[in-house]
Amino acid sequence: MTIYESDHELFRDSVRAFVEAEMKPNVERWERDGIMDRSVYAEAGKHGFIGMAVPEEFGGGGTKDFRFNAVINEEIARAGIGGGGQGILLHNDITTPYFIEYCTPEQSERWLPGIASGELITAIAMTEPGTGSDLQAISTTAVQDGDEWVVNGAKTFITNGINSDLVIVVCKTGDPSGGANAMSLLVVERGMPGFERGRNLDKIGQHSADTAELFFSDVRVPANNVLGEIGKGFEYLSFNLAQERLGIGLFGVAASRAALDWTIEYVQERTAFGKPIASFQNTKFVLAEVATEVDVTQPFIDQCVMKLNAGELSPADAAKAKLWGSELQVRTTDRCLQLFGGYGYMAEYPIGPAFVDARICTIYGGTSEIMKTIISKDVLAG
Ligand SMILES: Cc1cc2nc3c(=O)[nH]c(=O)nc-3n(C[C@H](O)[C@H](O)[C@H](O)COP(=O)(O)OP(=O)(O)OC[C@H]3O[C@@H](n4cnc5c(N)ncnc54)[C@H](O)[C@@H]3O)c2cc1C
Repeated sequence: MTIYESDHELFRDSVRAFVEAEMKPNVERWERDGIMDRSVYAEAGKHGFIGMAVPEEFGGGGTKDFRFNAVINEEIARAGIGGGGQGILLHNDITTPYFIEYCTPEQSERWLPGIASGELITAIAMTEPGTGSDLQAISTTAVQDGDEWVVNGAKTFITNGINSDLVIVVCKTGDPSGGANAMSLLVVERGMPGFERGRNLDKIGQHSADTAELFFSDVRVPANNVLGEIGKGFEYLSFNLAQERLGIGLFGVAASRAALDWTIEYVQERTAFGKPIASFQNTKFVLAEVATEVDVTQPFIDQCVMKLNAGELSPADAAKAKLWGSELQVRTTDRCLQLFGGYGYMAEYPIGPAFVDARICTIYGGTSEIMKTIISKDVLAG
């Protein structure tokens, strides 16, 4: 059973060809440089792999069918591009929906064509040095001064932090000690005076994803860069969380399947004690367990994709998809790496980078512990 139709499979063929031709040959350099070429976004945009959900009148694909996003996720995972793909996935799955949903007609004219073509790269800045999981505790402020908002504060761990042109910055516009009702989303643009990017952070994995600190010092943001209404930021952030979390879970399952495929091939070629590694009972059992976990997980993820398309994916189910998919990815890449022996620890084999790239997936987009908190509330509510 597949949730994909012929349109999605045709789309998959072209995404796969693009990933093979335009991404894979450059991954080693991006990993070394700690950043992916900006031009990949525009190139992907030309092929229709960016901004699929942006309305056609603004140059997008005009479809909210998340299966197209899912295909891109799966193909990037299949190719083992754990870091390089993240910026594109963030742009498509996480940030673009906010622009589509909350831009005024004037903002849509200004931003959506660039977002759809890949010429305007986006980011979302919630996390701060002092707070991540507890979003309501952020301390970045925006204070109104005439028809501008003056932003002060710092953000960290921001994906696309270096490459981005438009950053959705989560700020306190009300009482700084206030909670949900005090929060708003402001779009800070590349080059605004007082907006500085810090270091491209030195991570243990996902090296080709640029992850940076951002600093805001008296940045004067025009009122027409406010996304939606003032004071509704927290509510807006909940709107796309299900899609964001499902995307991470879905990537986790696809990355697990890729790890399994590489391992099946490797254990049949490599020998020890005069026999292929595949002939040892331990190898067979590990592969059997991993294959079972991947195959049993897939239908739940598929079901979530179809529920998301129908507008029916609950926060608890999205949290389950994220929790299970990302934990599976960590577990699977670890177990598969073991079967590669010492070669598993070498960067030249895809399993090693896949193992370190996986580690963040149970942390970003809401940690596994936060996912369990959400799921348990639902379970106890009956
Ligand atoms: C590579 C990378 C990319 C990222 N990209 C982005 C991005 O684009 N934009 C962005 O805004 N952020 C981004 N983040 C930040 C990420 O979302 C946060 O790191 C994450 O939400 C956790 O926040 P924290 O690091 O402050 O951990 P903390 O909140 O300090 O958590 C530390 C530990 O305490 C646990 N914990 C916290 N609260 C509870 C609780 N109530 N119950 C039980 N346990 C709890 C956590 O689960 C965790 O194990 C990124 C991070 C990384 C590393």
